[in-house]
Parts: sequence; C-alpha cells; structure tokens
Amino acid sequence: MTSLGTARADPGEINTGRLTVGEGPDGGSIGLPVAVINGVGDGKTLYLQAASDGDELNGVGVVRRVVPQLDPQELSGTILVVGIANYFAFQHGEHRNPIDDTKLNRTYPGDENGTSTERIAAATFDAATRADLILDLHQGSTSRMINEVRVRCGKRHRIHDDCLELAKVFGCGHILDQKGPEGQLARAAPDKGIPTVDPELGGAVGFDQESIEIGVEGVFNVLKYYDFLPGSVGVYTQTRAGGFEQYGAPSGGIVDFKVELGDRVSRNRTLFEVTDVFGRIKATVSADSDGIFWRSRRRPQVASGEYVCSVGTDLDSY
Ligand SMILES: [Zn+2]
Repeated sequence: MTSLGTARADPGEINTGRLTVGEGPDGGSIGLPVAVINGVGDGKTLYLQAASDGDELNGVGVVRRVVPQLDPQELSGTILVVGIANYFAFQHGEHRNPIDDTKLNRTYPGDENGTSTERIAAATFDAATRADLILDLHQGSTSRMINEVRVRCGKRHRIHDDCLELAKVFGCGHILDQKGPEGQLARAAPDKGIPTVDPELGGAVGFDQESIEIGVEGVFNVLKYYDFLPGSVGVYTQTRAGGFEQYGAPSGGIVDFKVELGDRVSRNRTLFEVTDVFGRIKATVSADSDGIFWRSRRRPQVASGEYVCSVGTDLDSY
C-alpha cells in the first residue's frame, strides 16, 4: 500500500484523493488534488507536480492527459502526482498565492508551521522527497517562451549530471542549465540527492496544446528511460544555455520584435524597437551576446524599464 494524503493504492491500483495543506479562511480543510499510481512491478518512484505557479496551466494539461493513460498493471514502480500545487493561486488564476502574496517556488523546503505558502511547500516537499526523480512542471508564466527544461541545482552540485540527464531525457530540445534562486524545488530536492528538473512548457494564457503535447511526451520519455514502462527512448543532442540575459525597455511605448522565439541571435543583432503610438522609433535594442531568443512579453505596450525579453546565452550542445 502506498499513500499520498487520502489517495491509497495497492500494487496494480490507481487512486486519487486530497493532500491536506492547512485550512482556508472559512475554517475548512484545504487539500491539494493528488493521485497515486502503484505499479504491479518493483521500480523507482517518480514525483510529478503541476501549477506550482497558479497561472501556469500547461502542467495541469499534462497531468490530466498522462494520468488516464497510465495502467498500473503495466507499470513498474510508483508515480506520486500533485495535480495542483499552488491551491489558492490556481483558484484565482494568479501566479502567487494571494493569501500571503508569496511565490511557492521560492519557499522550498517549506515550513509546516509557516505561512500558507510555506505549508504547501512543506507538504509537497515531503511527498516529493519520497521519490527517486522529480518533475516540477512549469512554463514561462503568461509570457511567450520556447519549450525547455531547467536544471537549477548549479553545475558544481554533486548530482548535477543526474539532473542534466533527466532534463535531456525529458527532451524539449533546449535546456537552461543555470543555478536557480534559493527556495526552488529544483534546488532544494537535489540537496536531498534526488534528481529534479523544471520542464518549462512554453508560455500561455490558459492551455497551449502544442506545449502540453511536448510535456506529455516528456513524461512518457522519463517513464520509459527509467524503466517504469517498457520501451526505449531516443535521447538526442540538445542545445544548452548556461546564461540568461534579460532586456528591459529603455523608453515607454509599443514593442516591435525583430526576431522570433527560438531564433539564434548574434551579438548586436536588433531584438526589438520601441515606437510611439504614431509609429516613430524611440529606441532600438540589440543583443549584448550571442544566444537564442528565449522568452518575450505578450503585451506590446511597455513602460520604460519594464521587462521585454530574454536571450539564452553561453550555448553549447549537450
Ligand atoms: Zn513557474
């Protein structure tokens, strides 16, 4: 018998339930939707989580497609799923938990007696660290972004190569291999010796079916490669970025991009112009380094100093 919250499954069974993470303002219990898929065969444990950021729905789209396709009678090992991690943020369609205005993925490993977000982090960290592998499904929020996988433990971490292998197996084609901010699950869990990555499934308002499809394929790649499921995976050479440069608007106005997402850009290549509402060019911004045009804002209007786009730099093939 394997359990996660109220979900309990014997070998060969699948079950769903709720994982209690505290109480809401009405005094009622708050439970994250969870699933346990307990394979008939022995094997590893995978932890899969979606909606750590409440407006990042593609991961939820992946979970609701992957879980119905899993047959515990064919599975070796166990899969633990938290379908919606950032409970209140998801309810409100917001990035951060509105109860304490905190980003969940800055609070790991959490605190079971802490704020609302810290309690969610503690409960999900507890579940995640029962696993041998962790996938924390994200996306570039509601901006536009390529599909990529992030390795956040840092290149000098003792299990960096295992995390990088997991990223490569997931197989989005692009990997950002850069130490992440303190409090990320993909930083805290490797310290417990568990390979962890953040698949970043594009960027969308609502669902992006193409990114969801890439995510579904990525999860099945992991399940096959690590012997949860029979079958082989073609692991191929991918483009890795070691740096991430962000560009802001020097002037307020309307942004006009001169490159497409995923394009290779060389140093001094024009990335975007800012015009006034009558089309007069106020500023032209070019790349500081060679790289890949990785992420961009969705809305065309910007204030001076506001975020416009990012370029992945320090590229190699891995
Ligand atoms: Zn995120």
